[in-house]
Amino acid sequence: DVFYRELPKVELHAHLNGSVSYPTIEKLISRKPHLNIEHGMTAIGKGQRRTLDECFQVFKVIHQLVDTEEDILMVATDVIKEFAADGVKYLELRSTPRDEKTTGLTKKSYIETVIKAIKQCKSEGVDIDVRFLVAIDRRNGTEVAMETVKLAEDFMLSSDGLVLGLDLSGDPTVGHGKDLLPALQKAKNCGLKLSLHLSEVPSQLDESDLLLNLPPDRIGHGTFLHPEVGGSQGLVDKVVKNNIPLELCLTSNVKGQTVARYSEHHFKYWYQMGHPSVICTDDKGVFSTDLSQEYQLAASTFDLSREAVWKLSHDAIDCIFAPDTVKQQLKQKWIDLKPQVF
Ligand code: 5GP
Repeated sequence: DVFYRELPKVELHAHLNGSVSYPTIEKLISRKPHLNIEHGMTAIGKGQRRTLDECFQVFKVIHQLVDTEEDILMVATDVIKEFAADGVKYLELRSTPRDEKTTGLTKKSYIETVIKAIKQCKSEGVDIDVRFLVAIDRRNGTEVAMETVKLAEDFMLSSDGLVLGLDLSGDPTVGHGKDLLPALQKAKNCGLKLSLHLSEVPSQLDESDLLLNLPPDRIGHGTFLHPEVGGSQGLVDKVVKNNIPLELCLTSNVKGQTVARYSEHHFKYWYQMGHPSVICTDDKGVFSTDLSQEYQLAASTFDLSREAVWKLSHDAIDCIFAPDTVKQQLKQKWIDLKPQVF
């Protein structure tokens, strides 16, 4: 539906290597034919589902394909242009910096390359404001988390406002947030914004409670925070009291089987409460979706009017990590575009 494509949108939860499109995967495969990777191993098609664990196997395959600065530059550039073509006006990309001994890639050059892609797109006049969140993979533990925070802090100070904060992601069944708390606290103290994957699976109540005390600036998923699904009112109260926006990814959660069906997605719980809820893609490549589709899906599942959808995309502006001046620019853009979209 052209309305959803033309709707100006804000994307706040997009993992770089999960966002790689089919055409880009094809290019990567042709660069590395010896890996014998087929497209079926890098994306989950319509109607297909995987367990969350199987989803994390998919990322490992993509990481094999993306292991040089050249790959990262191409992937980031393609992903940014695809979001722009889908009507995304402001994008916070997140990615986990990796060292690859065989290719000489370092965590530092990884981040530099993403920044280079952002700057290149800007100089080409691509109509999208892109920022970067440095991701911590929880499986890598305390030391790597601390090292990543240091890197993120350096880049925050030297990237002209392009690096805004940190993401905590990775397999939620591995490791515990308490081991990462000192690194996250340090990040917060130095002015990095925090977006944390919280309660993505059941049985993370203690961890969520602990991490909510920071408090984070945004929450990824938060699927099992509320009492109806085994969370608790205490957790909900902390989220509400601190007014922490949620990044909600419908297709990702249904395909990854943490949510049984769209109508049961926790978007309903938080949206009905009037709590800041931002529709996001998570991994548009892996889950074969885009942000227009996600808005359309939310609208059809929860019976949202076009005015309500407009307000949803507009209210997402208040949840971005960039400063108020950027929020004002985006709000003006929404005002300018409204007559064209309606
Ligand atoms: P990258 O950080 O390499 O650009 O993107 C892929 C990585 O993002 C994965 O290895 C994983 O750490 C993280 N990621 C992507 N999607 C999800 C998700 O749905 N849940 C969690 N917890 N992590 C994810």
